Order: sequence, then C-alpha cells, then structure tokens
Amino acid sequence: MSAIATSPDGLSPDEAASRLRARGRNVLSPAKEVRWWEVAAEEITEPMILLLLSIGVLYSILGEPEDAVTIFAVIAALVAVEVRNELKAKKAIQALNALSQPSAIVVRGGREAEVPVEDIVPGDIIILDRGGRVPADARVINSRGLAVDESSLTGEPLPVEKDSRAVGDVPLVERTNMVYTGTLTVRGLGRAVVVATGMDTELGRISALARGERPPRTILQLAMKDLTKWMVVLALAFSLLVPLLAWLLNGQDPQTMVLTALSLAFATIPEELPIIITMVLALGGYRLSRQNAVVKRLQAVESLGAVTAICADKTGTLTENRLEVREVLGPRRELLALASLVNHARASREGFTGDPTDVAILEEASREGVDIDGVREREAVISEMPFDSVLKRMSVTVSGPEGRREIIKGSPEAVLGACSSYKRNGETEELDDGAREEISRRMEGMAARGLRVLGVAEGTAAGTTFVGAIGLFDPPRREAREAIDAVIGAGIRPVMITGDHPLTATAVAEQVGLPVGRVLTGEDVDTMDDAALSEEAGSVGIFARTTPEQKLRIVKALRARGDRVAVTGDGINDAPALAAADIGVAMGQGGTDVAREAADMVLADNNFNTIVRAVREGRKLFANLTKGVRYYLACKVALISVALAAVVVQLDVPFTPLQIILMELFMDLGASAAFVAERAEGDIMRLPPRDPRASFLNRRMIISIFASAVGLFTAVFAAYYAAWTGYGDVVTAQTTAFATWLVAHVLLALNMRSERQPMYLLGPLSNRTMVAWGVAAILFAVLATEVPFLHEAVKTTSLPPEMWALIIVLSIAGTFWMEAVKAALRRNDK
Ligand code: ADP
Ligand code: MG
Repeated sequence: MSAIATSPDGLSPDEAASRLRARGRNVLSPAKEVRWWEVAAEEITEPMILLLLSIGVLYSILGEPEDAVTIFAVIAALVAVEVRNELKAKKAIQALNALSQPSAIVVRGGREAEVPVEDIVPGDIIILDRGGRVPADARVINSRGLAVDESSLTGEPLPVEKDSRAVGDVPLVERTNMVYTGTLTVRGLGRAVVVATGMDTELGRISALARGERPPRTILQLAMKDLTKWMVVLALAFSLLVPLLAWLLNGQDPQTMVLTALSLAFATIPEELPIIITMVLALGGYRLSRQNAVVKRLQAVESLGAVTAICADKTGTLTENRLEVREVLGPRRELLALASLVNHARASREGFTGDPTDVAILEEASREGVDIDGVREREAVISEMPFDSVLKRMSVTVSGPEGRREIIKGSPEAVLGACSSYKRNGETEELDDGAREEISRRMEGMAARGLRVLGVAEGTAAGTTFVGAIGLFDPPRREAREAIDAVIGAGIRPVMITGDHPLTATAVAEQVGLPVGRVLTGEDVDTMDDAALSEEAGSVGIFARTTPEQKLRIVKALRARGDRVAVTGDGINDAPALAAADIGVAMGQGGTDVAREAADMVLADNNFNTIVRAVREGRKLFANLTKGVRYYLACKVALISVALAAVVVQLDVPFTPLQIILMELFMDLGASAAFVAERAEGDIMRLPPRDPRASFLNRRMIISIFASAVGLFTAVFAAYYAAWTGYGDVVTAQTTAFATWLVAHVLLALNMRSERQPMYLLGPLSNRTMVAWGVAAILFAVLATEVPFLHEAVKTTSLPPEMWALIIVLSIAGTFWMEAVKAALRRNDK
C-alpha cells in the first residue's frame, strides 16, 4: 500500500513531482525520435531504391569509370531527396501524435486540476466522469452509477458496473472495484486512486506484446501502390524495348544499349509515387494541426477534400455549448434546488465544471441563493440512473428530511410522460389532459425561442409530480453563419443531427443560416427502412430528438446514397456515428475522450470554421497531389515516347544514359517538391466536391497526362530531329534534345500548376519552390552546354545561337498549347 500512499485530498504537488521522477511518465512507449540515418537505412532497403542502386552498380561496372562517379553522385542526390521527403513525413506524423496527447482530472492538494495524462503517478486520485478515458489503472474509492466500457482490454462489449466494494482475488474481468487504463467511462461519476501507470498497467503489459505496428495505409496510398506495380512492369518493358530496337534496327553499340536500358528503367520506374503521397498527406496533416485541426489518421486528410455532406451536432459545434438559464416555468428556487441534486457538475477552482447543461443549472442556482453544498449534504444521493441519451433523462433517489424521493430531469416529453400530477402555486394537482397540453404548449414555446428545455419532476410513493421546466440558452457561434455559407458555396450540404427538440433545433438552424429543408425526428427515422431513409436523407436539413443509434443510421444512410460524410460530435452518444463517418470530427474543448477516440480529427478550438478550413486544405492537398502525379507521369510518358520514336525512325537514342539519369533527378524534384508547395487556387471552395466514387487515375487525368506528354514529346523530338538533320552530329543532336527537355519540362510544370486557370492568372512567383526548381533546371541546361568543363561529364557540347532560338520556340510552342486546352475546358464547363 505504501507505493500508492495518499490521502483523500490527493497527493501534494511536490509529492506528485517526486513520484514522477521516481516512477517515470505514464506512457506506454516513450516517443522515439526520428533520426535521419535510420530513415536513410530504411529507405535504402526499400525494394525500389534497391533496384535503382543495383542499376547504378551495373552501370558503373559496364560503363566508363568516370561515369561511375557521376552516376553515384546522382543516385546519392536522388536517395537524399527520398530521405528528406520521408523524414519530413515522419516528423510531421510524430508531431501530430504528440499533439493529440490527452489530459485528465486529478485531485492534488485538495483541489481538482487538469494535468497531462503523462504526469499521472501512483497515489493520484483521479476523477472518472462520463465520457472520459481512464488514464491509469486505479482502485475505485467512490462512485455514482459508474460503468466502464472495457472492450478495448477484455473484448467484452457491454459496460461493466464499477463500485468501491472489495472483491477477492478474482480474474481481471471480475474486478469490479478496479478501472483500467484505456477503458472508457460510459456512465456515472466516481473517484479512484491510481495504483499503476505506464508500462506497469494491464494495457502496458498487453501492448508490450504488440509493438511496432505500422499505421495502416490510406486508400490513396494503396491505389498508388497498385499503380506503381503496373508502371514498373510497363517501365521495364519499354526500357528493354527501346535499346533492343536500337540495336536490332540501327545496329547501335550493344554495350551502350545495355546502359541505355538501365538508365531508362532508372528514369521511368515511379519509385517516388508512394512517398509523394505519404509526404503530401503527412505534411498536410501537420499544417492542419497548426490551424487547430489535429489529424489523428492520415486517412482524414485524404477524405477531407472529398466531403459532400457535413453532419453537425447542434450543441458545441453550431452553438457555444456555454449554456445559461434564460427562462423558468414553475417555482424557480425549488426547481433549481431539485435540478442541482440531479446533476453531475462539481464546484472546482475554476467555478463549476462538468456537463455544460448541469453547470448552467448550478450557476443559476447559486445566483438564486441556493446553498448547493448544503442541499447536497441534506439530501444524500442513495442511487442514480445516469443520463441516458436514448431516454433523454437522468434521475437520482435522495434521502433527506422529507424522506425518500426520486428526482427526474430530462427532455420535456420524457419527464412529462412519467408524471401523473403537477405543481400549481405550491399545490399538487392532478395532471389531466388539459393541464398536460397547456404545459406542453408552454415548453414548446420555450423550445421555439431556441432554448434547450429540461423538465424536472419529483417522485414519491404517492406518484410522480411535474415541478417545472428550465429553458437554457446556448448562444450560436458567431462564426457559424459564415462557415455554413462557405460550406454551401463549396457544394457541401450541412445537416444538423441533434438530440434536442425539433423546435429548438429549427430555431438554432435559422439563427446560423442552415437551410432547414425537412425536419425529421428520431421517431420518423425509426419508421423507415434503410433504403427509404437513404432516399429521404438527401432533402433533410435537421434530424432532431435522435438517439445515438439513429444518428449512426442516418450517417450510414447518407453514405449509402453516395455522400462522403463528415460528422462532428462531442458526446459519448456521438461516438458510433463519428466512427462510421468518412471523417469523424471531435471537439477538443469540453468534448469527451470517447468522442475524441472515435474521431479522425479533433478541433482544438471547437470552431466550425476550422472544419471549413480543413476541407479547403484537404481539397488543396488533393489538387496538388493530382497535379504532381499528373506531371510526373506525363514526363515519364514523354521520355519513353521520345526515345521510342527516335529509334523507330532509325536515329540514335536522343539522350545518353547519364543524361537520362540527370533528367530523372530534375523530374523527381519537380513533382515531389515544387507541386507540393503550390497554393490553393482561388476558386477551390466554389467548385463542387469531387466525385467520391471516381478513381484517382480517371479518364480526365489520363487524357491530361497524354495531352501534356504530347507537347513535351513534340518539342524535344522536333528539336532533336532538326539538330540531327542540320548538323549530322550525334553529340550536338543529343545536347539539343537534353537542353530542350530541361527547358520544356520546366515550362510544362508551370502550365500544369492549374488544370483550368490560365498561367498568367496564377501569379508567376507565388510558388517559390517551383521558381527555384525551374531556374535551377534551366541554369543546368545552360551550364551543361556553355561551360566546356562540363561537356566531358554530361556528354554535351556547345550549341549555336540559332539552336537555342529553336529550343526556346519549340519549348514554348510544345507546352503553351496546353493553354488552349485549358481555354477549351473552361468554355466547356460554362
Ligand atoms: P445534443 O445532440 O444537442 O448533444 P444531447 O444528447 O446532449 O443532445 O441531449 C438531448 C436531450 O437530452 C436534450 O434536449 C435534453 O432534453 C436532454 N438532456 C441533455 N443533457 C441533459 C442533462 N444533463 N440532464 C438531463 N437531461 C439532459
Ligand atoms: Mg451533446
């Protein structure tokens, strides 16, 4: 017992600090630092890189010794690019993980305080509240209706009731006085004293067994892996075909042709694709986190841009979740005193804490002069039915001077439905149909004014008496209206799903500008089968009085009709829907751990606008990814075509093996660095979402790849052909082809920055990385031809001015015709 020695006031802060030093942090596996040499080692053993390396080795064995140095320098540069990309991605992912570290409430030195879960030590007294994740293994010391979901540990799906009664030496699943790390408090309230932290916990023991698992790949990553496989086959086939034809048709030197085959393979194998995607997603996730949207799964970044419907719960997303009592129906003081008893909020250093609805009631009660502590002492709670989102009510049985009574608080329908009498001017009267209707009407009036209405009733042996109702105002978020407008503008449908009353929901929707459309209640939803619900769901703006199961069904129905659904939520009741959504968004402030656990993304500022920003970022990412991949593939197609065409018309292969390898280096940098740095286009939030069912490499993309490739091909091949026929010299012709490639592939990249916007609208300097890359590539072309010292290394020669003129004209003509394609596309879209 000495290791966990503590007092009802908890540990003193000093004692906690000294235990933290002695016992270590409460984490399962200390975050490992990402080191570049480890990433490099990992990269070099990737099959694709191994292939490149072995090509390099073969090349240096077969080729000339001086070339070996150059090629290994290029390979080193290429591997360095890979390692840098991978390192950036890994660091971003790690930073993301660090950001989603949770906190917990402990009692230290007699006061409740929120501390990072990491800092919890044995002996700490922790508060277990509905919706929280248990931060350490702990022994329950008191509880009210406490139940814990231990499925993560035991696989048992049903919540397990917990209390402080001693149990003997029984198996883990029967230890009802213990709560374990990683399990979830789904009901009630309690306190527990921590007995084990970090790797000493039950979860720690289990996770020691299952270490080092990699995060699952996203759909896009899988698609790219698939695509890469195909492209490798194609790349290898063409890399063999070109030199084979050159040797057979043109009788070219077989040894050079082997080298050509190797370098073509080197340049056309799309080893960058999977890592470009990981990098874009990871960096995007990291950027989002800086804007208060903490991404927990890379999948989220990918789905964000394709969202077609956003299901927002009302409370906390569209409203502040900072409630305030506005109206009271019935005896004010008595009502507030009763509602303070059937209430989980607690007094703490920062005022009252707990469920915002309950907090608002305590605040109003204390303003009214109700002695909350006194009332709570006089009327001890002896049993409790915790708040249930299906029944939409909670109740306690208290025992006090007036004997035993049950107090109920919940939705007006639920509470009124349970009553047989009501209080009128202090007298208890029978609740006949007329009175029932009158009370309902008045409560509906409160709801229609946008208030959340809670009925309160009191039950004794004589029956249940309706005491009154409390109307709470939850101010709509200031930014909600603007955010809803932006969402609608982006072709995304906002839908409200709430547990609250339809009239309250409608009033709030009107305040924030959410198109109401049709209003369905949970009961309506229950009358429909899945197919009918799917059909109706398209025109419904508000789903009210829903249960967690109904919320889940609605989300599934939307997905079934082809929507990509983002779901926001903060409560336990939202968790199933959050998990079923394409992207679950939990609230960081005041939301429950359960919701955060189920979500893909957590909004640190609870701001609806942040979702809009996240969608924008997601769209931008996807657009940049598409642009980068389109460019990357277009270059590869053009390269193969130029080589193949030359060979077919019985000319030499237009590039030396070394030149091909240099071209690949620039191509890679352009696709992986320059396009990733592209800004969002101006109209990105005014276009409809992309079709969620369309595959990444759709018809449009393929057409665009070939259209761009044709331009690049034409420019390079024409220049090569002209130089060949004009000078009859291989080196001059190859130098011309090489220089044209470098210039034209930069111009092509500039063109491909947008699929539809003309180049002059894009702000020529807005992407600095792209500019730096383009300048470097063109400068290299100039140096390789005009600096004699480089001729030997790059196998080039000086070019006459008229050749340069030709190169420039052909490069511009070959790439700028894309502007005409864009103009046609734009006209088509109108
Ligand atoms: P929301 O979708 O707005 O988050 P909730 O599930 O939190 O809805 O609440 C649904 C209904 O349950 C409320 O309209 C109210 O009638 C009732 N309710 C909510 N919180 C409490 C509470 N703390 N005590 C009693 N009843 C509550
Ligand atoms: Mg809620």
